[in-house]
Amino acid sequence: MKAPAKSRESSSRASSTRADRPAPQAPLPGTEDEIFAQLAEYEHEQVSFSYEPSSGYRGIIAIHDTTLGPALGGTRFWSYRSDREALTDVLRLSRGMTYKAAVAGLNLGGGKAVIIGDNKTTRREPIFRAHGRHIQTLGGRYVTAEDVGTSPGDMEFVRAETEHVVGLIGKSGDPSPVTAYGVYRGIKACAKIGFGSDSLSGKTVAVQGVGHVGYHLCELLHKEGAKLIVTDIDPAKVKRVVEEFRAQAVAPEEIYGVAADIFAPCALGGIINDDTLKVLRASIVAGGANNQLAEERHGDALEARGIVYAPDYVINGAGLINVNAELNGWAPERARNKAGEIYDTILRVFEIAREEGITSYKAADRLAEQRIAAIAKVRTNFVV
Ligand code: NAD
Repeated sequence: MKAPAKSRESSSRASSTRADRPAPQAPLPGTEDEIFAQLAEYEHEQVSFSYEPSSGYRGIIAIHDTTLGPALGGTRFWSYRSDREALTDVLRLSRGMTYKAAVAGLNLGGGKAVIIGDNKTTRREPIFRAHGRHIQTLGGRYVTAEDVGTSPGDMEFVRAETEHVVGLIGKSGDPSPVTAYGVYRGIKACAKIGFGSDSLSGKTVAVQGVGHVGYHLCELLHKEGAKLIVTDIDPAKVKRVVEEFRAQAVAPEEIYGVAADIFAPCALGGIINDDTLKVLRASIVAGGANNQLAEERHGDALEARGIVYAPDYVINGAGLINVNAELNGWAPERARNKAGEIYDTILRVFEIAREEGITSYKAADRLAEQRIAAIAKVRTNFVV
């Protein structure tokens, strides 16, 4: 029962409101490197390490918070330089999932797994079956899915050992059409805030990356009468949206400075940074990419320039909605409706930002923390 904290700042804020619980102990001098100190920093519930000698499987599962439900998050397969680096990554990513699920209005907690090793290996079955058995030991507290370095085929191996896995072949499928729909709804909410109307007809949208999410987003924007300026490092993908949606193409490095009302990053992280801020002309930044701000201060810089920024993990949350649909057997229509609610969530984020005089990315964290704290309270007040 906790309102987890994402930032150091919000961590101290959240802790100060929980008079019923002892304050986390500061690490003893010289113990900052200790694992429990690292868990205590953001109040992770559980971390599980597993090693399976015959396959060489080395996996870490981090469960950040299960107040709202089982911790869901993908498995990342990566050649980490050290076990410490892998642990830091899984702790960071699992905490992010708590926030993402909370603002998406899902009954899911935050978790993530990492497998340490070469993700190009062809010896996948023993590794992913070992991972499945590891997941099974947690009894449903953690549910996995695909992530960087893993595929639906790998999830089939996991499924042979545990039912706590989603993203299977023939199930919820490619999440990008639902993700793009959520992003589209989020852009409309931003337009309402920035321009006073949520109509995108006649607005110019610069889309960076026209892969899975970017392509479907362009389709929705084109249907509504928006003008598109697009870029991608893959010329074939650019050609397709130019031909199908009458988009104008520019070189990858030019996309930041084009005369557009809205900039929709759908490719890479870290694209709001010192260099791009110098040339950015859009009034709204709202797109599907993860980790758009190179650093938090770049979110402050957007705010200072009066640019409406849709926090990335709020606007791209429909990918998670899609796997939640698979987990709970929702019909596709229900998942799409839930994705559409991102419109209201974005409006609520900006309401909190206004009320509390904070940036939108901080307001998103606040919204997640408020929901988790409220549900924790309801659950303690109605113990059955
Ligand atoms: P994708 O790989 O299909 O598309 C990304 C596109 O960006 C590719 O076409 C690639 O060529 C292009 N690209 C790469 N570097 C570029 C550059 N420097 N300039 C311009 N274009 C560049 O991936 P996707 O599934 O569409 O995901 C896009 C983003 O959205 C990622 O950040 C992803 O993490 C995030 N996201 C995706 C989903 C989903 O449902 N697929 C859900 C949530 C978040």
